[in-house]
Amino acid sequence: MTKLMLAANWKMHLGPEAARGFLHAYLQRHRSAPDREVWFFPSAVALEAVAQATRDRRDIRVGAQNVHWEAKGAFTGELSVSMAAEAGAAAALVGHSERRHVFGETDDEAGRKVRAVLTGGLTPMLCVGERIEERDAGQTLAVVARQLAALGGLDAATLGRIVVAYEPVWAIGTGKTATPADAAEVHAAIRRWFADRGVRSVRVLYGGSVKPENAAELVAEREIDGLLVGGASLDPASWAAITAVRAPD
Ligand code: PEP
Repeated sequence: MTKLMLAANWKMHLGPEAARGFLHAYLQRHRSAPDREVWFFPSAVALEAVAQATRDRRDIRVGAQNVHWEAKGAFTGELSVSMAAEAGAAAALVGHSERRHVFGETDDEAGRKVRAVLTGGLTPMLCVGERIEERDAGQTLAVVARQLAALGGLDAATLGRIVVAYEPVWAIGTGKTATPADAAEVHAAIRRWFADRGVRSVRVLYGGSVKPENAAELVAEREIDGLLVGGASLDPASWAAITAVRAPD
């Protein structure tokens, strides 16, 4: 059974103290369930606090929001994969739209980061997605294919360790959500990209203005294996509602 993957991207919110307070409130509300795993992507300084606070919960995992591709060196302000792992991370986001569009991260850099995360034994969660002008120009699938091309050269077994999050840029933090059908079309194209390279199964999450109110209709879509959530993951009650989501019968 593929477990539903529900991932909280806290962005630049919640330091260690606030993260501990959040988890105290959230863990009282969230019961573990065998059909799902909950992931937290806190700020780098809160990684260890979140890992510690959730260490007794095998259904809860922790990841870094960003890592550098080099193992160590003169890279002021950066975080290496091994440092993230030492703090408790089992995964790392790569190529989040804010990294790409606010900090100018390129496809090539995202590709290097994915390779570093894999080398470090962690799970890369590669974020892909188009801007509104690209969608309006009918370029969505071409943009996503270009972003996936950063994985070129990896063999099928290695590609199979990657999780992809489809996050249309126009839906992130805007209140606009892709319809389940829109997301399904892109997810299917992502799956085809992996299948063409010999990967039989890849987990593809959707992200972009997910809330307790729309989570159920999204996970009801067969193509959607989980959700990556920003704003609505910052409140324990809202995140508990999303992580308890059930697809309607
Ligand atoms: C995100 O940051 O990955 C995200 C999807 O944000 P939001 O849920 O706030 O749109």
